Amino acid sequence: SGASELIAEYQATGTLKALPLGHFIDGSFTQPSHNRTMESFDPGRGEAFARFTAGTAEDVDQAVKSSKVAFETVWRDMAPVERSRILLQASKLILENLDLLAVAETLDSGKALQEAQGDVRGAARTFEYYAGACDKLQGDSFPLGPNYVGYAIHEPVGVTAHIIPWNFPISTAARGFAPALAAGCTVVAKPAEQTPFTALLLAKILHDAGLPAGVCNVVTGTGAETGAPLTSHPDVDHITFTGSVQTGKAVMKAAADEITRVVLELGGKSPVVVLGDCDREQALSGVLGAIYENAGQICSAGSRLVIEKNIHADFVAELVKRTKSLTLGHGLGNPDVGPVNSAGHLAKVAGFVDRARARGADIVTGGAVAADPKTGKGWFYEPTIVDSVSASDELAQEEIFGPVLTVQVADDADHALALANDCQYGLVAGIYTSNFAKAHQLARKIDAGQIYINEYFAGGIEVPFGGNKKSGFGREKGLEGLKSYCKTKSIAARIG
Ligand code: NAD
Repeated sequence: SGASELIAEYQATGTLKALPLGHFIDGSFTQPSHNRTMESFDPGRGEAFARFTAGTAEDVDQAVKSSKVAFETVWRDMAPVERSRILLQASKLILENLDLLAVAETLDSGKALQEAQGDVRGAARTFEYYAGACDKLQGDSFPLGPNYVGYAIHEPVGVTAHIIPWNFPISTAARGFAPALAAGCTVVAKPAEQTPFTALLLAKILHDAGLPAGVCNVVTGTGAETGAPLTSHPDVDHITFTGSVQTGKAVMKAAADEITRVVLELGGKSPVVVLGDCDREQALSGVLGAIYENAGQICSAGSRLVIEKNIHADFVAELVKRTKSLTLGHGLGNPDVGPVNSAGHLAKVAGFVDRARARGADIVTGGAVAADPKTGKGWFYEPTIVDSVSASDELAQEEIFGPVLTVQVADDADHALALANDCQYGLVAGIYTSNFAKAHQLARKIDAGQIYINEYFAGGIEVPFGGNKKSGFGREKGLEGLKSYCKTKSIAARIG
């Protein structure tokens, strides 16, 4: 049914009947080992709207076994062009299910429906992109002279685990599943306990697209009870973890015990460097989108504005004016800024700003907990700007993961570079300047996995993505993302 019918159903019943309950294992929604369930909350109302299964280590074990059998018996050796056709069909079916996926994502995560629709389209595009890559995983040959043949092939690593956070549930699932499946790997995923539904729905869609049973399994539950058993499972060959630095460390330690490969996509505190010679309008709208999209709950959010002194006062005044005009509201009503994901997370965001206030920070707009103006409900935080923050301040160093922009004032481009790099994270950076040479000089010198020049969040699935420093290691997206799911085998033979 269409989005408006689903919204009407939600308004009338407080839930959606299309939301699945069990894990998705071996091609169907299964009964879990124990009949335990958890509630999922609609952040826009701050109320529970559906239940899902709280998985156990036994469920994880069943899912991993299923994925191992599917890897060894069907998926690894399927002709790449056949895998490609299934992924392409999945891309089409994701779009056919756009309304359900987007409304479910909005209810689970809180994000504005338009943003959720964008995420679902992005997921479809991700499957389309990697569908085209299945039969192009070419290897090399090596010049060993006339008496030898030397070549290398890229083999799938095997069973891959995907631990997914709550801020981009379907996007993160797609960017892990699609390249893993394209490479010939099988998948066991554990979505965040705040947002379990779109990963489950995606697994069913993949099955409907022709993916054989067991190739993609999804187990829901908490990090401790399902995530940890998955990342320490001896039959898992690779882990793609997206989440916090703290959990990333635990995952890396668990992986060490089994020598399991890991890609870690962790947090960020990304600078947006705005120089005096920028296109003012381009920079203003870029800076606002970089921090307020998804209520700032984006690993790659532009959460630090590093601005050249000569335009600082005027630029921040205009940012404040535009920030004050942003609407807050339930995601289904397409506000400018939606809620944050949970009550606990709201308290964390508020804590950062309250501590800054106690230190005498210059909070030029926002700075308070809020609610949906229509209902008085929900977990909202006002879009907030804190001006003239020093580089050593907590607000310039720690990821807040909310709609809070920290402003750092730079004397010139060199100082801006120093401020941009003075941070434990290195995920992305934005640069706004009309000086082409300066933009590329800065791009080379900023320590981050990706740089956006004159458009924040520029680029798509074609462009590799991942962090430096505490933001993690390994790359997803692009053809480089495919390599994470391959192991190179070189073969040398004497023929003469
Ligand atoms: P989190 O680390 O608390 O949880 C992430 C996932 O890990 C959840 O599915 C959770 O259940 C699971 N988990 C928790 N404990 C576990 C354990 N011991 N073993 C295995 N899995 C476990 O992070 P979060 O608060 O859900 O997400 C927000 C964080 O994610 C932010 O720091 C954000 O920057 C980061 N993030 C990074 C990227 C990126 O691409 N770099 C993208 C999105 C989010």
